[in-house]
Amino acid sequence: MAKATTTPIVPKTARRTKQSSAKADPDAGKFDQREALYNGGAIGAAHEIAVGAERITSSRGLMLDIDLKLIKSGGLFETVGDDPFAFYAQVFKPLLARHSLLKKAEVRMSGGGLHALLWLDEPIEFFSDDERDRWAITTQIVQYALPSDPRAPGITAMTRPVGAINSKNGARVVQLAPGAPCTAGEIEAFRDELNASPFKSLVQLWTGSDRLEPCPCCRAEGSSLAVLDHRGRCYKTCGTVSIETFVSEALVDAPE
Ligand SMILES: [Zn+2]
Repeated sequence: MAKATTTPIVPKTARRTKQSSAKADPDAGKFDQREALYNGGAIGAAHEIAVGAERITSSRGLMLDIDLKLIKSGGLFETVGDDPFAFYAQVFKPLLARHSLLKKAEVRMSGGGLHALLWLDEPIEFFSDDERDRWAITTQIVQYALPSDPRAPGITAMTRPVGAINSKNGARVVQLAPGAPCTAGEIEAFRDELNASPFKSLVQLWTGSDRLEPCPCCRAEGSSLAVLDHRGRCYKTCGTVSIETFVSEALVDAPE
């Protein structure tokens, strides 16, 4: 039973390498290639390598998917239009640099947005549904700490391999930061920090500060937002500020 579930589920055709496309068009097969962060880490078309969570037996890391369409124009992050390179340089790189774990993320320009990838030094194997479910929750908590789509897939996420082409706009996936491997323990420690002080951890990460002037929610003259572990406090207008309210100053609601 255990043996059957650890067998790679990915069909061999999904593991096609450069050789098969080298003769004719070097870009053949590059369009919309995906790379799994689970099981064998297969590269191939999404329909070839996608699996449901229940078929995931190991994780190689986790992905934070930054969709620039979700960044609120004129909001908390000074907007730089929809240029992923500019957003990386001005907002996302400094954000990642504020945390010892996130500094280790590999960052790829995915064609339209950014993929931050926390690669594990060795894949974590799941020997029960409970173990997988716990990792799925850890993944979601870490994803929520970044300005990413709250509905993005968790452990079933696929990135785009470097060199692949995003057919939506013809852009080629490039690596913006090489990153470095991390341990599962580092990711779990980050999860624990986020659980202990969700508001403070998120605001410090996104702004680099634990007291914001003016308050980013009302922007009233002379206002400030004190950043506490679980909530913020604006002494001018807003009173108590929840994490949802703070996030809504930075991100727009995901389109349905
Ligand atoms: Zn306020």
